[in-house]
Amino acid sequence: MQVFTEEQQLMINIAKEFVQEKLVPQIPDIEEGNFPANLIDELQDLGFINMMLPEEYGGLEEKMVTHMAIVEEFAKENLTTAIVCNSNMISSLLIDFASDEQKKLFFPKYSEDKHMAGLGFTEPTAGSDAAGIQTTAVKDGDDWILNGQKTFVSYLNQCSAFLVSARTNETDEGGISTFLVEKDLPGVEVGSIFKKIGMHGSETGELFFKNVRVPAIYLIGTENWGLPLVLKVLDEARLAVAMCGVGIAQGALDKAVAYVKEREQFGRKISSFQGIKWYIAEMESEIAAARALVYDVANDYDNKKFITKGAAMAKWFASEVAMRVTEKAVQMCGGMGLVEDFGLERYFRDAKVLSITEGTSEILKIVIAREKLR
Ligand SMILES: Cc1cc2nc3c(=O)[nH]c(=O)nc-3n(C[C@H](O)[C@H](O)[C@H](O)COP(=O)(O)OP(=O)(O)OC[C@H]3O[C@@H](n4cnc5c(N)ncnc54)[C@H](O)[C@@H]3O)c2cc1C
Repeated sequence: MQVFTEEQQLMINIAKEFVQEKLVPQIPDIEEGNFPANLIDELQDLGFINMMLPEEYGGLEEKMVTHMAIVEEFAKENLTTAIVCNSNMISSLLIDFASDEQKKLFFPKYSEDKHMAGLGFTEPTAGSDAAGIQTTAVKDGDDWILNGQKTFVSYLNQCSAFLVSARTNETDEGGISTFLVEKDLPGVEVGSIFKKIGMHGSETGELFFKNVRVPAIYLIGTENWGLPLVLKVLDEARLAVAMCGVGIAQGALDKAVAYVKEREQFGRKISSFQGIKWYIAEMESEIAAARALVYDVANDYDNKKFITKGAAMAKWFASEVAMRVTEKAVQMCGGMGLVEDFGLERYFRDAKVLSITEGTSEILKIVIAREKLR
């Protein structure tokens, strides 16, 4: 079991309180697609976004394990908000790859001024194959000119910039670079927003670049070697998605347990039936195993170890657990499990997102096996 210091526990308790008092009443609005702007400000002010950043850049210098505990608390109630808390993955990338000049330019925006940055990697013809992109960036004096299209870009409504991968060289072995592209640059256009199964609080859709002039200082990392940077972002994102799976599963189980302790059939509480007890035992055990795996990898991260295999294992396992647990939780609640106002069907819908976004379960298994076979 993960042990926390008194300070870390205090932070986790503040998150629990915030989730119940401030977040829960706003969930119906969030699910309608109206994510309150002041919620992001409050999350920033309390340190839930960018918590791992050094203090000089507006963070709390917290560990990954604390960040994971906070993500779980939010995911127990609302996936969209839990993933907002993870928007610090762009920031941690800037710590590792940005020059001092870039840090001075970007950090005031993405920490103090409460801007959020999202990810623009996926394209209509390049999903699992992140290297198969067609968006191009061509040098023009001190600038780059971007042309192309991204799709399935999340948080189009909340983000003011996106980390975008673009082809900068057709012949080099790498040939892909990453740029921080501000949404209000001329030529950046938001296209269709998809109606999707879950995560309704995030607008997910298309982003077009039509001769977008991006100053050279917005190229992050080394020209033509952006792919390792994309993969590093994905490692951290996968760990957070794994913890979202744990949180969704725990939230669904807790709601189902509260229901079966009250609901009576055949003159007895349905929690007294052995079939229901076995469900609960299996669900609780699977969640505990997934959580332990996430913390194991989070500790590796905090100890500066390589997490590619661990993050893929954690995300694959936890997102599949989330699917199994939410399906059973709905089953335990019978018809009520399907009713929107009851608040459980959303967990089932949201869980499905997790085994696809940031790398499908199939791709994660390829990564795990590849790392094991090295
Ligand atoms: C809600 C949501 C939010 C998202 N947010 C973002 C975002 O913010 N930014 C972003 O860049 N992307 C985002 N994505 C995109 C996401 O990362 C991709 O959907 C994912 O990587 C899969 O790509 P694809 O949808 O093109 O599926 P495809 O790559 O077309 O895959 C289709 C199926 O084929 C399987 N498959 C593909 N290749 C192989 C293989 N080699 N072996 C075995 N099976 C294979 C896949 O596992 C899958 O089952 C989001 C997706 C969703 C659903």
